[in-house]
Amino acid sequence: MDINADIIKNLEVIHERIKAACERAGRDPQEVKLLMATKTVTPDKIKIAINAGNALIGENKVQEVKEKYEALLDTPHVSHFIGHLQTNKIKDLIKCGVTLIESVDSFHAAEKLQERLEFDDKEMDIFFQIKTSDEETKFGADPKEAVEIVRQISQLNRVHVKGLMTVGLFDAEMEKVRPCFKLLKKVQQEIVAANIPGIEMNELSMGMSGDFETAIEEGSTIVRIGSAIFGKRDHTYKYYWPEHRE
Ligand SMILES: *Cc1c(COP(=O)(O)O)cnc(C)c1O
Repeated sequence: MDINADIIKNLEVIHERIKAACERAGRDPQEVKLLMATKTVTPDKIKIAINAGNALIGENKVQEVKEKYEALLDTPHVSHFIGHLQTNKIKDLIKCGVTLIESVDSFHAAEKLQERLEFDDKEMDIFFQIKTSDEETKFGADPKEAVEIVRQISQLNRVHVKGLMTVGLFDAEMEKVRPCFKLLKKVQQEIVAANIPGIEMNELSMGMSGDFETAIEEGSTIVRIGSAIFGKRDHTYKYYWPEHRE
């Protein structure tokens, strides 16, 4: 079996499914971008996917961003960071070409980012990550505090909020996952209504291999898809979300 042909085929299937979900939801497929979640995927495979016309990738671990950075330099793409943000590693993300951090979930993290950006004389786009399920995860801000924290972040002149991100509940039953996406949409509307200078709320990053069609129905503009493109990973989710699920 040719792994590379599988990747191309899987991408075609995903694009078809995104399009079909948009049509069902009465949305323009142009509104929904595919981010390829490339954790554990080697640069040669990532290049195949990029060269098939998919420019947006996201890594979950800073270490992997660093390891793959040079190998991907000759293949134009856009790089987001989608994993838990450890403030002592921010400098590596800035250095390795990440243009948007999707996982800022506190004012403290945004302040640390601002400090480093001042040092490097750079700027960075971010999404504010919201916790939308009751799972025992530490990551993501309390939806009730979102407007206030985003208001604080708006004071940081090098950090530019472009939207929101969430990881939905891990459940095969979509009607249990859907409220997470509805909640993110609601928080987006609250922030829009607060009319905070400098804050943009056009992007909602939500939906993964198991639930992206539901996320699209609820207004997602970026779906983050890994295993449905590159195949199952060896690591369990726990590796990527420590102190979190099985
Ligand atoms: C790995 C990952 C994804 C994609 O997960 P799949 O289930 O493989 O599609 C999406 N978002 C984040 C934050 C991830 O770490």
